Amino acid sequence: MNIIVCIKQVPNTNEVKINQETGTLIRDGVPSIINPDDRNAIEAALQLRDLNGGKVTVISMGPPQAKEALREAYAMGADEVYLITDRAFGGSDTWATATIIAAAIEKIGGYDLVFCGRQAIDGDTAQVGPEIAEFLDIPQVTYAVAIEDKGDKLIVTRKTEGVDYIIETPKPALITAIQDLNKPRYPRVKRIFEAYNTEVVKILTSEDLPVDPTQIGLKGSPTNVYSSFVPTKEKHSEIIEGADKTEKAEKLLDKLKAVNVI
Ligand SMILES: Cc1cc2nc3c(=O)[nH]c(=O)nc-3n(C[C@H](O)[C@H](O)[C@H](O)COP(=O)(O)OP(=O)(O)OC[C@H]3O[C@@H](n4cnc5c(N)ncnc54)[C@H](O)[C@@H]3O)c2cc1C
Repeated sequence: MNIIVCIKQVPNTNEVKINQETGTLIRDGVPSIINPDDRNAIEAALQLRDLNGGKVTVISMGPPQAKEALREAYAMGADEVYLITDRAFGGSDTWATATIIAAAIEKIGGYDLVFCGRQAIDGDTAQVGPEIAEFLDIPQVTYAVAIEDKGDKLIVTRKTEGVDYIIETPKPALITAIQDLNKPRYPRVKRIFEAYNTEVVKILTSEDLPVDPTQIGLKGSPTNVYSSFVPTKEKHSEIIEGADKTEKAEKLLDKLKAVNVI
């Protein structure tokens, strides 16, 4: 089975710096990691390949420093890694990001399965995976915690807050991984050596991808970030007066009902 895994390099911190003028993320000077859910996506892809054969291709869209994440994916065991990078892609929102990644997946071609993480810890929208599936016109199963390869179809367990769903999907499909799916492996020393001593990362630019220039970058992004800020948290307390416990409890119930808490 040929699998393409989409990974995002993200800042290794919850303190994401934001350019207050443009509303975009500032990556410079912030240590970076592979987005945690994406490491589970890589692991799931490697396990399926190790079991049934095929190839794992890992792709990332980002600035040149995202090569680092791809080298790590290679060291974990990916067969091929691609960086999708171009000045024209800068400032892309989730729509433009998914447009570019879907074009890259089509360019690479021959895939049975696409993996994404559920959500990136910086952008946090969880939109890119489902949008890629829409652009590729393939079925999607999100929040995967177990995957079985049954030849021309996949059986995926999808975890939600209340219940788990067992979903059968034909291939090709897109699956988004969550951290309950598996425990990502450590890179092997031989592969680390290879990843850092040979040029394993292949590059795709706007010239390689048939993307409409009006659909990419800041100009092609329908989302506008007007301002970014850390919300202030306020706590208010109130003493409920009453003759006894029963009266106080009744007043409390009335107040909770009034604000639709119960
Ligand atoms: C108007 C606007 C401008 C923006 N400009 C910038 C900017 O200049 N610089 C910047 O860093 N961010 C920018 N962003 C944020 C950027 O759009 C998002 O980081 C990006 O689209 C991914 O969304 P997300 O982080 O919410 O990913 P999610 O949707 O939460 O990610 C889900 C999964 O999709 C996959 N995925 C997501 N992004 C990538 C990627 N790049 N490559 C491969 N796979 C991926 C991964 O598997 C990931 O786990 C901008 C956003 C907006 C709205």
